[in-house]
Amino acid sequence: MLVAVGQENAFPWIERDCGIDFDKWGLPTLDKNTFQSTVPNVFFGGDAAFGPKNIITAVAHGHEAAVSIDKLRRAEPVYVRPAPMTNLVSQKMGIHEWSYDNDTSNDLRYKVPWEKAETALASIRIEVELGFDAATAFKEAERCLNCDVQTVFVETACIECDACVDICPMDCINFIDNGEEADLRPRLKAPALNLAQDLYVSGGLKTGRVMVKDEDVCLHCGLCAERCPTGAWDMQKFLLKMTPAGQGVAA
Ligand code: SF4
Ligand code: SF4
Repeated sequence: MLVAVGQENAFPWIERDCGIDFDKWGLPTLDKNTFQSTVPNVFFGGDAAFGPKNIITAVAHGHEAAVSIDKLRRAEPVYVRPAPMTNLVSQKMGIHEWSYDNDTSNDLRYKVPWEKAETALASIRIEVELGFDAATAFKEAERCLNCDVQTVFVETACIECDACVDICPMDCINFIDNGEEADLRPRLKAPALNLAQDLYVSGGLKTGRVMVKDEDVCLHCGLCAERCPTGAWDMQKFLLKMTPAGQGVAA
Protein backbone atom coordinates (compact mmCIF):
# COMPACT_ATOMS: atom_id res chain seq x y z
CA MET A 1 0.00 0.00 0.00
CA LEU A 2 1.35 3.42 -0.91
CA VAL A 3 0.50 5.99 1.73
CA ALA A 4 -0.06 9.55 0.58
CA VAL A 5 1.68 11.65 3.21
CA GLY A 6 2.18 15.30 2.37
CA GLN A 7 5.56 16.48 3.55
CA GLU A 8 4.21 19.96 4.16
CA ASN A 9 0.58 19.37 4.94
CA ALA A 10 -0.07 22.72 6.57
CA PHE A 11 -1.55 25.95 5.32
CA PRO A 12 -0.05 28.81 7.30
CA TRP A 13 0.20 30.72 4.02
CA ILE A 14 -3.59 30.87 3.61
CA GLU A 15 -4.86 34.02 5.31
CA ARG A 16 -7.38 33.08 8.01
CA ASP A 17 -9.70 35.93 7.05
CA CYS A 18 -10.15 34.78 3.41
CA GLY A 19 -13.30 32.77 4.17
CA ILE A 20 -11.83 29.24 4.24
CA ASP A 21 -12.59 27.63 7.60
CA PHE A 22 -9.97 25.35 9.23
CA ASP A 23 -10.44 22.85 12.05
CA LYS A 24 -8.34 22.58 15.20
CA TRP A 25 -5.76 20.49 13.31
CA GLY A 26 -5.34 23.18 10.67
CA LEU A 27 -7.15 21.12 8.02
CA PRO A 28 -9.77 22.86 5.86
CA THR A 29 -13.45 22.31 6.65
CA LEU A 30 -14.79 20.42 3.63
CA ASP A 31 -17.89 18.74 2.33
CA LYS A 32 -17.05 14.99 2.34
CA ASN A 33 -18.72 14.36 -1.03
CA THR A 34 -17.84 17.43 -3.03
CA PHE A 35 -14.49 18.40 -1.42
CA GLN A 36 -15.70 21.98 -1.54
CA SER A 37 -14.36 24.28 1.15
CA THR A 38 -16.29 27.09 2.81
CA VAL A 39 -15.25 29.24 -0.15
CA PRO A 40 -17.33 27.67 -2.96
CA ASN A 41 -14.68 27.85 -5.66
CA VAL A 42 -11.85 26.44 -3.51
CA PHE A 43 -11.46 22.64 -3.27
CA PHE A 44 -9.01 20.40 -1.42
CA GLY A 45 -8.11 16.75 -1.99
CA GLY A 46 -5.64 14.04 -0.98
CA ASP A 47 -3.97 14.30 2.41
CA ALA A 48 -4.63 18.07 2.31
CA ALA A 49 -8.34 17.24 2.67
CA PHE A 50 -8.76 14.75 5.51
CA GLY A 51 -5.20 13.85 6.49
CA PRO A 52 -3.00 10.94 5.32
CA LYS A 53 -4.74 8.07 3.56
CA ASN A 54 -3.53 5.82 0.76
CA ILE A 55 -2.64 7.10 -2.68
CA ILE A 56 -5.73 5.54 -4.32
CA THR A 57 -7.93 7.60 -2.02
CA ALA A 58 -5.97 10.73 -2.92
CA VAL A 59 -6.52 10.12 -6.64
CA ALA A 60 -10.24 9.46 -6.02
CA HIS A 61 -10.47 12.79 -4.17
CA GLY A 62 -8.98 14.48 -7.22
CA HIS A 63 -11.63 12.95 -9.48
CA GLU A 64 -14.47 13.89 -7.14
CA ALA A 65 -13.19 17.45 -6.74
CA ALA A 66 -12.82 17.74 -10.52
CA VAL A 67 -16.44 16.61 -10.96
CA SER A 68 -17.45 19.33 -8.47
CA ILE A 69 -15.43 21.98 -10.29
CA ASP A 70 -16.97 20.94 -13.61
CA LYS A 71 -20.47 21.22 -12.13
CA LEU A 72 -19.70 24.55 -10.52
CA ARG A 73 -18.55 25.92 -13.88
CA ARG A 74 -21.80 24.72 -15.47
CA ALA A 75 -23.78 26.46 -12.68
CA GLU A 76 -25.19 23.04 -11.59
CA PRO A 77 -25.56 22.02 -7.92
CA VAL A 78 -22.29 20.35 -6.91
CA TYR A 79 -23.94 18.16 -4.29
CA VAL A 80 -25.99 16.30 -6.95
CA ARG A 81 -23.46 13.61 -7.89
CA PRO A 82 -23.48 11.44 -11.01
CA ALA A 83 -24.37 7.83 -10.22
CA PRO A 84 -21.56 5.29 -10.76
CA MET A 85 -21.92 2.64 -13.46
CA THR A 86 -22.46 -0.78 -11.87
CA ASN A 87 -22.53 -4.11 -13.66
CA LEU A 88 -22.63 -7.86 -12.91
CA VAL A 89 -21.31 -10.38 -15.46
CA SER A 90 -21.36 -14.17 -15.11
CA GLN A 91 -17.92 -15.74 -14.83
CA LYS A 92 -19.08 -19.20 -15.92
CA MET A 93 -16.97 -20.82 -18.65
CA GLY A 94 -17.98 -24.48 -18.23
CA ILE A 95 -19.58 -26.81 -15.67
CA HIS A 96 -16.57 -26.57 -13.36
CA GLU A 97 -14.71 -23.71 -14.98
CA TRP A 98 -14.69 -20.08 -13.98
CA SER A 99 -12.87 -17.16 -15.47
CA TYR A 100 -11.15 -16.56 -12.13
CA ASP A 101 -9.02 -18.80 -9.93
CA ASN A 102 -11.39 -20.16 -7.27
CA ASP A 103 -9.00 -22.52 -5.48
CA THR A 104 -9.68 -22.35 -1.74
CA SER A 105 -6.30 -23.71 -0.61
CA ASN A 106 -4.99 -22.04 2.53
CA ASP A 107 -1.43 -21.49 1.31
CA LEU A 108 0.66 -19.27 3.52
CA ARG A 109 1.46 -15.86 2.14
CA TYR A 110 4.66 -15.76 0.11
CA LYS A 111 7.34 -13.57 1.65
CA VAL A 112 8.68 -10.74 -0.47
CA PRO A 113 12.47 -11.26 -0.68
CA TRP A 114 14.62 -8.55 0.88
CA GLU A 115 18.03 -7.24 -0.08
CA LYS A 116 20.80 -8.42 2.31
CA ALA A 117 20.89 -6.17 5.38
CA GLU A 118 24.55 -5.17 4.87
CA THR A 119 23.80 -4.05 1.29
CA ALA A 120 20.52 -2.30 2.18
CA LEU A 121 22.07 -0.45 5.11
CA ALA A 122 25.09 0.66 3.10
CA SER A 123 23.13 3.19 1.08
CA ILE A 124 19.75 4.91 1.33
CA ARG A 125 19.41 4.46 -2.43
CA ILE A 126 19.18 0.67 -2.21
CA GLU A 127 15.65 -0.74 -2.44
CA VAL A 128 15.03 -3.13 0.46
CA GLU A 129 12.11 -5.09 -1.01
CA LEU A 130 13.23 -6.89 -4.16
CA GLY A 131 9.77 -7.95 -5.32
CA PHE A 132 8.59 -11.36 -6.51
CA ASP A 133 9.87 -13.16 -9.56
CA ALA A 134 7.17 -13.61 -12.21
CA ALA A 135 6.24 -17.19 -11.20
CA THR A 136 5.84 -16.35 -7.49
CA ALA A 137 3.93 -13.16 -8.30
CA PHE A 138 1.52 -15.23 -10.38
CA LYS A 139 1.00 -17.73 -7.54
CA GLU A 140 0.55 -14.93 -5.01
CA ALA A 141 -2.04 -13.26 -7.24
CA GLU A 142 -3.96 -16.56 -7.33
CA ARG A 143 -4.49 -16.28 -3.56
CA CYS A 144 -6.81 -13.35 -4.27
CA LEU A 145 -10.13 -13.74 -2.44
CA ASN A 146 -12.02 -12.50 -5.52
CA CYS A 147 -14.17 -10.15 -3.46
CA ASP A 148 -15.44 -8.68 -6.73
CA VAL A 149 -16.98 -12.01 -7.78
CA GLN A 150 -20.39 -12.28 -6.12
CA THR A 151 -22.73 -15.19 -5.54
CA VAL A 152 -25.99 -14.29 -7.28
CA PHE A 153 -29.11 -16.29 -6.40
CA VAL A 154 -32.27 -16.58 -8.52
CA GLU A 155 -35.04 -17.89 -6.29
CA THR A 156 -37.39 -18.78 -9.16
CA ALA A 157 -34.85 -21.38 -10.39
CA CYS A 158 -34.28 -23.00 -6.98
CA ILE A 159 -35.91 -26.41 -6.27
CA GLU A 160 -34.70 -26.40 -2.63
CA CYS A 161 -32.69 -29.60 -2.99
CA ASP A 162 -30.13 -28.34 -0.43
CA ALA A 163 -27.17 -29.48 -2.58
CA CYS A 164 -25.53 -26.05 -2.26
CA VAL A 165 -26.00 -26.15 1.51
CA ASP A 166 -24.19 -29.50 1.64
CA ILE A 167 -21.22 -28.44 -0.42
CA CYS A 168 -20.58 -24.95 0.95
CA PRO A 169 -17.32 -25.24 2.91
CA MET A 170 -18.25 -22.25 5.06
CA ASP A 171 -21.83 -23.19 5.99
CA CYS A 172 -22.97 -19.79 4.85
CA ILE A 173 -26.08 -20.86 2.87
CA ASN A 174 -29.32 -21.34 4.79
CA PHE A 175 -32.89 -22.14 3.78
CA ILE A 176 -35.00 -21.01 6.72
CA ASP A 177 -38.22 -19.26 7.64
CA ASN A 178 -38.06 -15.54 7.07
CA GLY A 179 -37.91 -12.94 9.83
CA GLU A 180 -36.45 -9.61 10.78
CA GLU A 181 -32.67 -9.40 10.34
CA ALA A 182 -32.00 -9.47 14.09
CA ASP A 183 -34.06 -12.67 14.30
CA LEU A 184 -32.39 -14.26 11.24
CA ARG A 185 -28.79 -13.68 12.37
CA PRO A 186 -28.66 -16.15 15.30
CA ARG A 187 -30.69 -18.77 13.37
CA LEU A 188 -28.05 -19.21 10.64
CA LYS A 189 -25.83 -22.30 10.62
CA ALA A 190 -22.86 -20.02 11.20
CA PRO A 191 -24.34 -17.16 13.26
CA ALA A 192 -23.77 -13.83 11.51
CA LEU A 193 -22.08 -11.69 14.14
CA ASN A 194 -20.73 -8.85 12.02
CA LEU A 195 -23.54 -6.30 12.16
CA ALA A 196 -21.76 -4.08 9.65
CA GLN A 197 -22.32 -6.73 6.95
CA ASP A 198 -25.87 -6.98 5.61
CA LEU A 199 -27.35 -10.44 5.09
CA TYR A 200 -28.24 -11.65 1.59
CA VAL A 201 -31.94 -12.60 1.85
CA SER A 202 -33.82 -13.95 -1.18
CA GLY A 203 -37.46 -13.54 -2.05
CA GLY A 204 -39.90 -16.27 -0.99
CA LEU A 205 -39.33 -19.84 -2.21
CA LYS A 206 -42.02 -22.42 -3.03
CA THR A 207 -42.01 -23.84 0.50
CA GLY A 208 -42.42 -20.35 1.95
CA ARG A 209 -38.83 -20.28 3.23
CA VAL A 210 -36.10 -17.89 2.08
CA MET A 211 -32.42 -18.33 1.27
CA VAL A 212 -30.25 -16.40 3.72
CA LYS A 213 -26.51 -16.05 3.24
CA ASP A 214 -23.89 -14.39 5.39
CA GLU A 215 -21.63 -12.67 2.87
CA ASP A 216 -19.01 -12.15 5.53
CA VAL A 217 -17.85 -15.77 5.52
CA CYS A 218 -18.25 -16.62 1.82
CA LEU A 219 -15.00 -17.65 0.10
CA HIS A 220 -16.28 -16.91 -3.43
CA CYS A 221 -15.21 -20.46 -4.27
CA GLY A 222 -18.17 -21.04 -6.60
CA LEU A 223 -18.83 -24.59 -5.32
CA CYS A 224 -22.50 -23.75 -4.72
CA ALA A 225 -22.84 -22.62 -8.34
CA GLU A 226 -21.03 -25.73 -9.62
CA ARG A 227 -23.22 -28.07 -7.55
CA CYS A 228 -26.60 -26.44 -8.19
CA PRO A 229 -28.56 -28.61 -10.67
CA THR A 230 -30.74 -25.75 -11.88
CA GLY A 231 -28.27 -22.87 -12.18
CA ALA A 232 -29.98 -20.95 -9.37
CA TRP A 233 -26.55 -19.83 -8.18
CA ASP A 234 -24.12 -18.00 -10.43
CA MET A 235 -20.78 -16.31 -9.79
CA GLN A 236 -20.86 -12.82 -11.26
CA LYS A 237 -18.13 -10.21 -11.37
CA PHE A 238 -19.14 -6.83 -9.99
CA LEU A 239 -17.85 -3.71 -11.68
CA LEU A 240 -18.20 -0.23 -10.24
CA LYS A 241 -17.08 2.63 -12.45
CA MET A 242 -17.04 6.09 -10.93
CA THR A 243 -17.32 9.16 -13.10
CA PRO A 244 -13.77 10.22 -13.91
CA ALA A 245 -12.72 13.81 -14.27
CA GLY A 246 -12.75 15.29 -17.72
CA GLN A 247 -16.15 14.15 -18.95
CA GLY A 248 -19.54 15.82 -19.01
CA VAL A 249 -21.01 14.87 -15.65
CA ALA A 250 -24.70 15.63 -15.99
CA ALA A 251 -26.30 13.78 -13.07
S1 SF4 B 1 -19.12 -19.35 -3.05
FE1 SF4 B 1 -18.31 -21.06 -1.79
S2 SF4 B 1 -18.27 -20.23 0.28
FE2 SF4 B 1 -19.56 -18.86 -0.91
S3 SF4 B 1 -21.65 -19.62 -0.62
FE3 SF4 B 1 -20.86 -20.60 -2.45
S4 SF4 B 1 -19.98 -22.53 -1.73
FE4 SF4 B 1 -20.23 -21.23 0.06
S1 SF4 C 1 -28.40 -26.39 -5.14
FE1 SF4 C 1 -29.55 -24.94 -6.39
S2 SF4 C 1 -31.61 -25.79 -6.50
FE2 SF4 C 1 -30.57 -26.85 -4.83
S3 SF4 C 1 -31.10 -25.63 -3.00
FE3 SF4 C 1 -29.18 -24.82 -3.75
S4 SF4 C 1 -29.79 -23.12 -5.10
FE4 SF4 C 1 -31.60 -24.37 -4.77
